[in-house]
Amino acid sequence: MTTTYTARWVLPMSDPPIEYGAVVVEGERIAAVGSRSEIVERFAESKLESFGEAVILPGLINTHTHLELTALRGYLENEERDFFAWLRKLTIARLELLTPDDIRVSATWGACEAVRAGITYVDDASDSALMSMTALRDVGLGGVVYQESFGPDARLAAENFEKLKLKIEELRVNETTLVRAGVSPHAPYTVCGPQLEMIADFARAENLPLMMHAAESEAEDLFLREGCGVFAEGLARRSIEWKAPGTSTIQYLSKRGVLNVRPLLAHCIRVDEKDIETLRDTGAKVAHCPKSNAKLGHGRAPFAKFLESGVAVGLGSDSVASNNTCDILEEARFATLLARAGGDDVSAARILETATGELKEGVQADLAVISLAGVHQLPSYDPIATLIFASSGRDVILTVVAGREVCRDGRVTTVDEDRLRARIKEISQKLERGLRR
Ligand SMILES: [Zn+2]
Repeated sequence: MTTTYTARWVLPMSDPPIEYGAVVVEGERIAAVGSRSEIVERFAESKLESFGEAVILPGLINTHTHLELTALRGYLENEERDFFAWLRKLTIARLELLTPDDIRVSATWGACEAVRAGITYVDDASDSALMSMTALRDVGLGGVVYQESFGPDARLAAENFEKLKLKIEELRVNETTLVRAGVSPHAPYTVCGPQLEMIADFARAENLPLMMHAAESEAEDLFLREGCGVFAEGLARRSIEWKAPGTSTIQYLSKRGVLNVRPLLAHCIRVDEKDIETLRDTGAKVAHCPKSNAKLGHGRAPFAKFLESGVAVGLGSDSVASNNTCDILEEARFATLLARAGGDDVSAARILETATGELKEGVQADLAVISLAGVHQLPSYDPIATLIFASSGRDVILTVVAGREVCRDGRVTTVDEDRLRARIKEISQKLERGLRR
């Protein structure tokens, strides 16, 4: 049994746009992509779905999320100009105010937001990775859930590493073909050097993907180059020794072996020419999170330079605690405008490539159907320009992950959104009480 989706436009990405195109899905795979007339004749028995003035494209990819923090959307607005205070309040909320089930609900709500926005794959860093993995599986969203690891104190590195290994073991039992496990040493200022090395070796030996925050803030740069600033002061207060390597984050991670495992590095704002070369030569990937970076006042990553230099780069929303939406079309528009505001030339077609996969015979059937019929979109002379400059995740009509329809006409079909909405309200009231305490 096959389903044929047709629309005014199909964007295979690996091939030019097809006007009046069609995509055939058979089970979890794409069986064919082509012009509507040719496909309808070839697959005469297929169930036909016509979307009219819309575009069918590969599912959007969000390369940096923390879905478990979705309940903290809007919760940290007053801390945003003080990164240390922001991280502290976030940690207290997560560890002291939220139960494991709250975290699961929070991650599930985030996964709903993602598929509503046409996202079919996420790279999700999570402290409660098992809960996040459950959320992805329940909603039918694909991705890697990276178990976070913390530990700035070298004396506790071995112990922290053992804890991580146990969590990974548990996580791996729950893997599916769509949702896999990874590791995430949180950041250079929350994980000590020896622990970074252990995790990198482990990732390599176990063939686990690794994601990490890197070169995000001025405070982090000061911490590594000079050994001072809020992060160094924080460690000193806890009597934790820190000897700054006197280099950039990227060179530090290279020395600690993290770049040997082709990691996914979120942010990469504070990077120089040499760092960019190192990223390219080691095959590290960058999750560009322009909205989160702007909102927290961290600055702007050299996105156009990454593209020019051949660094693998994707777009990430980061958590909605710093964005405040999980919407890759919005992120793509912002990334393009920000690059152009800085004098760089980034085209709508190029940014869309960084945000999607491809539609072709044999690949997993991850796709999104996005309406082009909105008042805010018409007239439309070029579907890609309309997508990037005039559309958002709210224009998505259908999201398909591995052949399964997970969201249609603004409704997630796999979970009870009304029940989740009620729970999210309860959780937010609890957080608000915590706030007033
Ligand atoms: Zn992050």
